[in-house]
Amino acid sequence: MKKWKVAIVILAFGVILTACSSSQEEEEQREQTVPDLEIKVEDQDDTTEEKNSGETDSTEAAEEEEPGERREEIVVLDPGHSSVVAEGTEPLGPGSSEQKAADTLGTGGVSTGIPEYELTLTVSQKLKSELEDRGYTVVLTRDSNDVPMSCVQRATVASDADADAFVRIHANGIDDSSVQGAMTICITEQNPFYPELYPQSRALSDNIINELCKAAGCENDGVWETDSMSGNNWSEVPATIVEMGYMTNPEEDQLMASEEYQNKMVQGIANGIDVYFGY
Ligand SMILES: [Zn+2]
Repeated sequence: MKKWKVAIVILAFGVILTACSSSQEEEEQREQTVPDLEIKVEDQDDTTEEKNSGETDSTEAAEEEEPGERREEIVVLDPGHSSVVAEGTEPLGPGSSEQKAADTLGTGGVSTGIPEYELTLTVSQKLKSELEDRGYTVVLTRDSNDVPMSCVQRATVASDADADAFVRIHANGIDDSSVQGAMTICITEQNPFYPELYPQSRALSDNIINELCKAAGCENDGVWETDSMSGNNWSEVPATIVEMGYMTNPEEDQLMASEEYQNKMVQGIANGIDVYFGY
């Protein structure tokens, strides 16, 4: 703003102030004092604009009062598998001589015919939206089904984002169609790669499985501790795999495909993440 305009504004302010009663005048002066301090930072090139800051300040205040308070934690969600399977092998963990397949196709719905990679992406996208509503910053390792992604690449997304939690969404599969229930999977206390992450990974796993089963009403198969999951082993941040249920069980497969049950699972997993962070 040009200096002559500022001069007019200052003049106008003066007129308003003199026209006011004494108590209002004090009020106006207080309001005027606060913006003075802030505008100096914004308009360093022209200090004469200081007085013309009332409107700018009220706009800023409105933005700060937006609903849905931001939270500082970053959550990386990893929708398991993909329609294009990453080829080759990778070390089981950093510096390991043992090799594992970079990724696998995963399981599929025995009743619905839905592939695991499709279900995991659907639930992950819903979960992302729910967690963002709760104030978290959320990153997906993949946002489409035709992107090949190895386990190391998935873990690297979490590590690079400096995530506070790495939550990997999967569904289970087994030969016996009567088997059902949900579980989470984390590293053991003796993990050869990042054993220091065990307490947090275990707590994350405990909280998610308990809240998931509470919200969805599914069988709680607890936490499976293993160092055979390369995506968990490579993660430099607390990690868990959520096996939401068995796609090889016709009833659980049907349930997991339904919008209503998906919403319950999303609420449960989000609640578990909240409990983990102490909300
Ligand atoms: Zn899987």
